[in-house]
Amino acid sequence: MADMEVGFLGLGIMGKAMALNLLRNGFKVTVWNRTPSRCEELVEHGASAGETPAAVVKKCKYTVAMLSDPAAALSVVFDEDGVLAQITQGKGYIDMSTVDAETSFKINSAIKEKGGDFLEAPVSGSKKPAEDGQLIILAAGDKELYEEVEPIFDVLGKKSFFLGAVGNGAKMKLVVNMIMGGMINAFAEGLVLAESSGLSQRTLLDVLDLGAMSNPMFRMKGPAMMSSNHAPNFPLKHQQKDMRLALALGDELAVPMPVAAAANESFKKARSLGLGDEDFSAVYEVLKALGPGSV
Ligand code: NAP
Repeated sequence: MADMEVGFLGLGIMGKAMALNLLRNGFKVTVWNRTPSRCEELVEHGASAGETPAAVVKKCKYTVAMLSDPAAALSVVFDEDGVLAQITQGKGYIDMSTVDAETSFKINSAIKEKGGDFLEAPVSGSKKPAEDGQLIILAAGDKELYEEVEPIFDVLGKKSFFLGAVGNGAKMKLVVNMIMGGMINAFAEGLVLAESSGLSQRTLLDVLDLGAMSNPMFRMKGPAMMSSNHAPNFPLKHQQKDMRLALALGDELAVPMPVAAAANESFKKARSLGLGDEDFSAVYEVLKALGPGSV
């Protein structure tokens, strides 16, 4: 199964790591990226490059996408020479981007009309888990396609969930990232408050790590945040997009989300200060700038 021909659309932080992982594990991979130069490194590692998303889908039975947001996910499917131009019966399209359920519904209907099969399969886990094949995959849609592409998911992830109808994967991912967005804000506020109180941030990290709030995110990001190192693993602009989409879901269902709403404001402020391409931990800089001594 590992020699199956897989298309891969979108070679950003996540897509590049995931496509490299498939190559390392013996898959034949054909890549496409909007900015073509990003294909070069993959080609050096044995991938083929397709001219357009349509050309990739024509060549491959299964095509995976990992794109920034709903606009990108829709564009790659519906625009000229997009996925729809070549998807047919017997082919599967797996969109692993983080989008809202509405976007997934649109893509699913269009693919179905052409006779193809569709899975949404957003992931939890960042650059390093993507490199190490340790993602958590939140799939929903065609169950048969899910079973067929399990060898792909086995390489990309440490665990995959099948969540039923299209939309459930998108919603699960938004709930997870909404929680994460609140956590990083609380953590950043705590670091600022500790420092302003004359406490050691390092000691705060040690105290947190020994207790019930211990988690890999605080452990990994804490030291980098203390030194204002926000090299992007998960760009802040994408985290804010996820907060926006999660809040829209809450609006739709009349679910109050005061913590998420406040966290979203901090991310928006960070974007307005030009921090969108930094890691989402850069929200720390906003909270620090609002702190004592800033006025
Ligand atoms: P990224 O580094 O910003 O890459 C985004 C990709 O989307 C690039 O390949 C970019 O192409 C492409 N793209 C953007 N707009 C496009 C358009 N209009 N048409 C075609 N392609 C377009 O983002 P990433 O971190 O890899 O994230 C990708 C997705 O995974 C996002 O939905 C994100 O929320 C989700 N995610 C990310 C992480 C993480 O930790 N990074 C974790 C879980 C989920 P160009 O190269 O031409 O710009």
